[in-house]
Formats: sequence, structure tokens, C-alpha cells
Amino acid sequence: MLREWDEHGLVLRVGRFRETDIWLRTLCKTHGITTLFAFGASRSRKRFCGCLDVFNTLHCHIRVAKNGRFLNLQEAVLLTGPQRLRHNWQRMGLAANCLRFVESLDVPPENATEVFDLVEDLRCTLESAPHLSSLLPLFFRLRVAGASGLAPQLYRCGSCGVHLHGDAIFLADEGQIRCASCKTRTAYTTQLSGAALSLLRHVRDTAPSAWPSKGLAPPEHRACARAIDGFVQYHLGLVFDEGRFRRI
Ligand SMILES: [Zn+2]
Repeated sequence: MLREWDEHGLVLRVGRFRETDIWLRTLCKTHGITTLFAFGASRSRKRFCGCLDVFNTLHCHIRVAKNGRFLNLQEAVLLTGPQRLRHNWQRMGLAANCLRFVESLDVPPENATEVFDLVEDLRCTLESAPHLSSLLPLFFRLRVAGASGLAPQLYRCGSCGVHLHGDAIFLADEGQIRCASCKTRTAYTTQLSGAALSLLRHVRDTAPSAWPSKGLAPPEHRACARAIDGFVQYHLGLVFDEGRFRRI
């Protein structure tokens, strides 16, 4: 096992303990979600350049503690971080919601790079897109669930295998679609129009900067929201409740 290494880390959450020490929940590009301890961080601008903030990407020098029980952040250099975004509380709220979601997942090391790239793309989008879809946090959950190995099947009927172009029924519990002849009705089904289905496919297969900011009719908006919410709740056991994700 490596005792010491360098890698890029994206800060999901920061906390303070004792007087000058800081811990960081970090999405590391190769190790996945990790807690790093920065001892003396509030005193040492030299080692940490004042960059231990949420949503920053850092170049980290990490060392396993002598007793092997935790990871020390020895030094960090800022690579990228939110700029205009820090002054936009509404968008920072969206960012916080998305970062909490990532934190509540178990991102395995083999999926870490893909999730990491998505969070960086999200930061870019929040920083510069003139408009955002109100479904953005939900889109992000669907996409990141896919990147962590849980992507719904959205092209063929899960029962007869026919390729679907128009309307379909989404089964949140099965994570698949059904054609009209194979439909079943359970508490987890959502009727999707062709437009809603192609939007879900697009979101599942691209990054936040490619997602549309508007253009969904209210019924489709509701159907997409219901389908994604049901899927995430069923497969990840997570509901968003009072500002945090809770396991159900
Ligand atoms: Zn079918």
C-alpha cells in the first residue's frame, strides 16, 4: 500500500476541529471519497495557500498517518475553484445540494475519475451558464448515479427488447423502460412521452454543460422529476430532506 502520494482532490465539505486543524471530505480523482486531515491548517498559509474551501479542486500531497488510521493532507495547491459563483448564493445552494449528493454515495475508486470530471463540469456550468434548468439537481443525481455504476436502461423495452422511440413507461424499481404492450402498473411506474424519454437519455449520457436549460412542457417536467426521484430513492435509498440526504 502507498504511504504517500499526490493526486487531485475536489473539496466536498470542510470542518474544523481543535483550534487550528481542519478536516476535508474530498472526492479524490483516483481514490474516491476520502477524509483528509490538515493539521495546523488555519495557521499555515505556506502549506495550504488558504485554499481549503468547498468546491475547490486542489493538488494534494497526501500521507498515511504513522498509526495507519487516517490520511494527512501535507500540502495543497489550488488548481481551480468557483469565482463568480461564490457571490451567487442561489447557485452556491445548488452546488451544495449536488456536493451533498456525491458525498452520500459510495463512489468506488474505479468510478472516481468519471464522477470527479462530472463535478468539475458542474462547477464550470454553474459558473458560466446564463440559465439553468430547475431540474439540474435531479439531472445531476441521475447522471452521477450512472457514473457510480447505476445507470437506468433507457433504449429498449426491458421485457420484449423492442427499441423505443416514442412513449414509454419507466419502472423506477427495475431501472428500465417498457413498451405499451409489456407495461405493468406498480407504484414505481411513470408514463414518459418521447420528448421526456429522449431528455433522460441525453442527461444520462452527457455532462452538465450539455444539458438543456429550458424547453420542457410542465407535464414532461413532472414526469422526468418523478422518474429520476423514484429511481434514486429506490436504488440509492436516498431522499433529500431538510437540506441533507437521508438514507431510507
Ligand atoms: Zn415490450
